[in-house]
Amino acid sequence: MSHEEFPTDRPAVVTCGLPYANGDLHIGHLRGYTAADALHRSIEKLGQQSAYVCGSDMHGTPIAVNAAQEGVSPEAFATRYHEQYAETFPKFNVEFDNYGHTHDETNTEITREFVERLEAEGYVYEDEIMVAWDPQEDQPLPDRYVEGTCPYCGEQARGDECDEGCGRHLEPGEIEDPVSTLTGNAAEYREREHKYFAVSELADYLSEFLDRLEGTSNAKNQPREWIEEGLQDWCITRDMDWGIDYPGEDDLVLYVWVDAPIEYVSSTKQYSERVGADEYDWEEVWGRDGGDGGEIVHVIGRDIIQHHTIFWPAMLHATGHAEPRAVCATGFVTIDGKGLSTSRNRAIWAEEYLDEGFHPDLLRYYLTTMGGFQQDLDFTWERFQERVNGELVGTVGNFVYRSMLFAARNFDGTPDAEVSDDVREHIDAAVGQFREAVKEYDVRNAGDAAVELAQFGNEYIQQHEPWQLEDGSDEQAQVIRDCLQVATAVAVLIEPICPEKAETVWDQLNVDGDVHAAETDAVDAEPGAFDEPDELFEKIEDDRVDELDAALEEKIEDATADEEDEDETDEEDTEMDESELEPLIDDRIDFDTFEGLDIRVGRIESAEGIDGADKLARLEVDIGVETRQIVAGIKQLHDLDEIEGKKVIVLANLEQAELFGVESNGMVLAAGEQADLLTTHEDAEPGTKVR
Ligand SMILES: [Zn+2]
Repeated sequence: MSHEEFPTDRPAVVTCGLPYANGDLHIGHLRGYTAADALHRSIEKLGQQSAYVCGSDMHGTPIAVNAAQEGVSPEAFATRYHEQYAETFPKFNVEFDNYGHTHDETNTEITREFVERLEAEGYVYEDEIMVAWDPQEDQPLPDRYVEGTCPYCGEQARGDECDEGCGRHLEPGEIEDPVSTLTGNAAEYREREHKYFAVSELADYLSEFLDRLEGTSNAKNQPREWIEEGLQDWCITRDMDWGIDYPGEDDLVLYVWVDAPIEYVSSTKQYSERVGADEYDWEEVWGRDGGDGGEIVHVIGRDIIQHHTIFWPAMLHATGHAEPRAVCATGFVTIDGKGLSTSRNRAIWAEEYLDEGFHPDLLRYYLTTMGGFQQDLDFTWERFQERVNGELVGTVGNFVYRSMLFAARNFDGTPDAEVSDDVREHIDAAVGQFREAVKEYDVRNAGDAAVELAQFGNEYIQQHEPWQLEDGSDEQAQVIRDCLQVATAVAVLIEPICPEKAETVWDQLNVDGDVHAAETDAVDAEPGAFDEPDELFEKIEDDRVDELDAALEEKIEDATADEEDEDETDEEDTEMDESELEPLIDDRIDFDTFEGLDIRVGRIESAEGIDGADKLARLEVDIGVETRQIVAGIKQLHDLDEIEGKKVIVLANLEQAELFGVESNGMVLAAGEQADLLTTHEDAEPGTKVR
């Protein structure tokens, strides 16, 4: 089954992953919000009714942990960031039709209703499970209160997420070698009663749903693998105070990922209530009226694909709601080729960008058109300058300004002439390209349609040289009339990405109506009389870029130095820190402890991937005395055929573990993110002890 093409006669809703009310916004966050804003505006340009809604995510352990550190209530802590976000987004022309938060009354009420429906439909059961427990504080350790080893890939992980390894959601009790983040103590596991959502029963539905789902390919392919591996039921309660109470239970709150996506529904309801259901009907969009629902489009970061393609559609389906039409998952943002790190200040903060005096539409343009939606996007000030000076100043700004200046001086605005067929055809082709791109959720290509049309305009005016023609002549009027229509069309098509700049062009051209509300047929709207225009964009000079680069570098150095001064780093932000070296461990071990490690030279006899595991390989390693089966996280990083016969270094007396049902009996030592395998330089035979 495929979806009906946009525009349909049902309302659409575009959402963006909720910002977590836990810190300042930076350009890494803005990528998603600007892309979703542009997508929403683009969909409306096709004549599709649409609302763009979002809200702050106020619950969960990181907020509770940070609020406790600050000595304020979680609500006060989260509200502070919520208010800051609500103020910041419009500064980047990210205009939500409604911006709520997960702790407000609407969301609390609708979340309870979802849970009650899940219960009524028989999808909720109770189970005794082992939860991590801090023996010193005598309290449970939900989610971020515990860290340890991912049972799937062996990487360091947080209680509910393998954020540095395979990216999986982790259920309570799954993490190995749990350590309390409250006290640093080894955590115990204790039995507690919790509520489970029987997601596994919905595996068949979810497979079919994924076949229908539109959006980016990563949002379809990853969940298919998870379903093939076998879905686990989902623990939806936590031993905590902060959150939405589980209906009828005093000491349990709902897991933050239950009420977070429900905010999409709640925020839509708030919008609907404000404008009236006649104008926008939230019950129709979410299928609460018994119908098929509207066009639900989720824009998210690629780290929350599982939540939006497994848990969320399962919840919607089980409660009788409509399902998402599309999930579009963006890549991350890097700075100068390195991971963004808020703790190391390797970030460009939203406020910082604005303080530099740059127009928000420039950043919007960069973030939405720089690379493919799914790919990671690198930000450098040089490339920012290049894109602004090249495409915005050189192509769009230059064309619009020279056409309008000439028109104002020679015709007091738009000359009296019909637009030529050739130019109409070019405009229509650009509209076609735009519409096709939007149907593919391809914001970058939609933006290209506008820039390429401006490029055509530049070539057109260059070819026809109106300044060589007799002033006021019909020939001259014709060329200028054509150019002004192209400028009008450029304004319409670039509006989703550069809304404020589009409005400036529209106003300067003196076209009737509102460019934001205009649909693509407005490319034919007639410009009127006007005076000499102002330049649309300003060139960024080289020395400005040098300054910005120097300031960024200094900032990163300062932050790194600060960090080294501290005895220990507290709450570490681990957002893609791979480029940085880990600090040395201060605690020394004695020689006996080292002697306790039985490290041997080994030779890889065979290597094969483990089905269903993205990263894991099963190795047979000859360590002289015997041959060991060892599971190693190297599947994606090495050509498994090529490493057979290679000598490696093995920690032989590591306790046995089972990974993906495969027993692992030792560890092959490897360096860094790329798992560079350690080996010997000379001819030490397998079994030789390393000391
Ligand atoms: Zn993992």
